[in-house]
Amino acid sequence: MRALRKESPTAGFVLRDVPVPEILDNEVLIRVRRAGVCGTDVHIHEWDAWAQGRCRPPFTVGHEFAGDVESVGALVTDVKVGDRVTAEGHIVCGHCHLCRTGNAHVCPNTRIIGVDRDGAFADYIAMPATNVWQLDPDVTFEIGGIHDPMGNAFHTALHGTNLPGATVLVTGCGPIGIFAVGIAKAAGASHVVASDVNPKRLALARAMGAHSTVHPKDAAAAVQKATGGLGVDVVLEMSGVPAAVHQAFELVRLGGRVQMLGIPAKPMDVDFATEVIFKGITVYGVVGRRMYDTWIQMTQFLRSEQFDPTPVITHRFPLEQHAEAIAVIKSGDAGKVVFEIA
Ligand code: NAD
Ligand code: ZN
Repeated sequence: MRALRKESPTAGFVLRDVPVPEILDNEVLIRVRRAGVCGTDVHIHEWDAWAQGRCRPPFTVGHEFAGDVESVGALVTDVKVGDRVTAEGHIVCGHCHLCRTGNAHVCPNTRIIGVDRDGAFADYIAMPATNVWQLDPDVTFEIGGIHDPMGNAFHTALHGTNLPGATVLVTGCGPIGIFAVGIAKAAGASHVVASDVNPKRLALARAMGAHSTVHPKDAAAAVQKATGGLGVDVVLEMSGVPAAVHQAFELVRLGGRVQMLGIPAKPMDVDFATEVIFKGITVYGVVGRRMYDTWIQMTQFLRSEQFDPTPVITHRFPLEQHAEAIAVIKSGDAGKVVFEIA
């Protein structure tokens, strides 16, 4: 089969012919149809400091995908050949303190497909049956293939927030931030301000229903106008850029909530006294998707027809054009980029 591989500890990927994976008794073999390309794949491609510290080549890249089940292991009872599925890409241990208390998204024994073991940019992938998520019949493989980043956005927007009627600021309109705009709208937010430095990304945020789309220098004025000077009830921080993190703390109202998904590239200073404590705010760190609360919410929002993620997808490539896919993400202008594998 074809597989896009990180073969050596240097920049780049290579498309190679490799054997179809063998499955264990508790695993299923999935024929990959669509696979989303993520910023993490770009880090691995570039072989930056994070990738050097985390990844051990050789392995197959890719963690966002959907496809149909080709075969199932002897112990698998709830997944059948032919099922249309996607999967949670974080493989957790299932027996630690966190897994046993409903917090598997922060299981310290997590192994991630396409990072710690062979991933989805290939004709087939082996997955534990427990990670498989069934797609509704009218959910396309393309939408199935972006459940992972869309799930990041659902987790950020919905966990512990109270969005009906709320005012919301989304800082950073990369693919995940743009999903979050649409989710906040569908969840009943009364006003969504989206900020980004990139006009193309603001246009995508507008397409997903943002009420105001602004450059960060104009965000304070937009929030002032939308909230009568109070500040927003909820900030979804989706950039990881220190200036945006400070702006999140500045523009949330007293007693409000900041949901932090974006990952700062290096340590940053926070004035906890003025930015967090005396504002009485709650800060929530987002890791992946909650298992499986987030997946259930995502499936139900897709059924509701109030939420359509399709406008977020801007580019589609065959696996052979992996260099083009990486380049268009690096340009910063794309929404979601998807490989059409089969
Ligand atoms: P992305 O890099 O495509 O999007 C970030 C956006 O922020 C860009 O559009 C950029 O122009 C914008 N930006 C830059 N400066 C800004 C500012 N001052 N104010 C507002 N916006 C600004 O990333 P993505 O793929 O959408 O992911 C978003 C973030 O989430 C990244 O930091 C990524 O590493 C992180 N992430 C976290 C998790 C998690 O589990 N916590 C999972 C996936 C991704
Ligand atoms: Zn665990």
